[in-house]
Amino acid sequence: MPQYVTKSLTICRWTINRAQEFTELHQDLLQLFDLDPETTTPENALSRFSDQVHPADKKDVLSFWSIKADRFPTSQVFRYFRRDGTMMCLRSILIMKLDNGNVLGTTHDISEARFQAKENEKIKLQLEKITKTSPSIIYVYDLKLQQNSYANRSLFDVLGYSQEDVAALGDQLFPATIHPDDLPSVLAHHSSVLPYLQEGDSVRLEYRMKNKKLGTYVWLKSTEAPYSFDENGEVTSIIGIAEDVTSEKEAANAVFQLNKELREKNEALEKIQLLLKDAEAVKKLNRELKLSEKKLNLMNQEMEEFVYITSHDLSEPLRTVSNYLGLIINEKQDLLDTEAKDFILRVLGANERMKQVVHDLLSLSRVGREQKTEQVVLKDLIYEILQDLDQVIKESGTVIDIQSLPIVTGNVSDFRRLFQNLISNGVKYRKQGISPRIVLRAEEKRDHWIILVSDNGIGMDPKHSEKIFQPFQRLHLSSAYEGTGIGLAICRKVVESHDGKIWVETEPDKGSIFYIKLLK
Ligand code: ADP
Repeated sequence: MPQYVTKSLTICRWTINRAQEFTELHQDLLQLFDLDPETTTPENALSRFSDQVHPADKKDVLSFWSIKADRFPTSQVFRYFRRDGTMMCLRSILIMKLDNGNVLGTTHDISEARFQAKENEKIKLQLEKITKTSPSIIYVYDLKLQQNSYANRSLFDVLGYSQEDVAALGDQLFPATIHPDDLPSVLAHHSSVLPYLQEGDSVRLEYRMKNKKLGTYVWLKSTEAPYSFDENGEVTSIIGIAEDVTSEKEAANAVFQLNKELREKNEALEKIQLLLKDAEAVKKLNRELKLSEKKLNLMNQEMEEFVYITSHDLSEPLRTVSNYLGLIINEKQDLLDTEAKDFILRVLGANERMKQVVHDLLSLSRVGREQKTEQVVLKDLIYEILQDLDQVIKESGTVIDIQSLPIVTGNVSDFRRLFQNLISNGVKYRKQGISPRIVLRAEEKRDHWIILVSDNGIGMDPKHSEKIFQPFQRLHLSSAYEGTGIGLAICRKVVESHDGKIWVETEPDKGSIFYIKLLK
């Protein structure tokens, strides 16, 4: 079983190039490695050294010395056989990359220190000698004592803290100097990351530390690697190298800020573009809508004109037909046999119905023609209508109940047509054997009136409650109830031309309630 031997606690400094040749090789390193000074040159020293490394560590040695790794510092311990067969533990640390690309490092024998977890003052002094001229802050931090056991001069140059300041601050160094926003993550890093690092690991951390002289914060980028372990293999101290990256950070922040602003502006621009697109689409739709509306109005106008003219022109010949047929019946009846008389009477009947259709069509086309609007006292208007319908009301024994009704604004002739149709329908569609009863009343709402015209008549299937407002839609045969199917179409046209609405609630045998909504 090879014994660990401690040759010396000398810390050997060296530099190595990319070809893994020492560019700086001191006698004491040859001594430490126990290499033959006669045959060892800076070029072959490393391969000689590697030959004597413990076989289990050989692979790690090769990757450690290849200076591809750009994480500094990196530290690793190797077991090494001296020429006499004894074994020792050497810690090598890649401290930093020099300007020419070579790497500066140290190696020291920790055969004893590794297991006693002791840091030797002499080692620190030597480390100081080596790292004194580095522009980076190089430090050894004791995780148990929570304070720096060593820091080079750059700590003073970059942050203004002297060795005495560091000693005086002790374990308060970080709480007192690290930016409050960064302190929790730094402390967490110290307690839960650093102690568990393995040989060869290194970790990075960025945080802000206060510049003692200026009171401002400096962004530091630290890379830390294990420096010593205790007997349980837990890291007791770390070696770290920290660089002032404030200007990079500020530049990055400025770029980030600019990017953020740019992104926000882009987003706003995209939204505006979308809105503009939407606005364009809405404009186009509006234009198309207006055009269709115009076309529709024109067509409606032409249609109404056509209905008005034809119904007007039809009235005259129809009247003439009726007159002549009347004359034939009255004055030439001796010339007619019974059958001929019957035919003529039938034609007269059909002619009368035709006259009624033409009359109703004329009424429909007249709705809205008169532009004149006035205050219409509905109660008075209804009384006038009742006078016109006096005969049919009396004959049918209809009871009309007029409750309070409002004064509304609109065209009185149109309103007359509206209520005349509703009341006469109420009388017409009465139930056999029951005296008809029609109630007119109003409900006042915030900005409109609802006028209700209800009857106790035959009612109808509610599925027809839309259809009956269309022209020529009848639910009954003319033989059962006379009519042209235009009355409710007139009602709807009157109400809609006053910006109102009309609808019905009805059930077969249960009567009907017509609702008219009119704006105040
Ligand atoms: P008309 O009465 O000339 O047939 P309307 O347009 O006034 O035409 O009515 C359309 C249809 O609606 C009527 O044929 C009738 O079937 C139904 N109707 C209208 N008013 C009532 C009512 N008060 N009760 C029952 N049915 C009605």
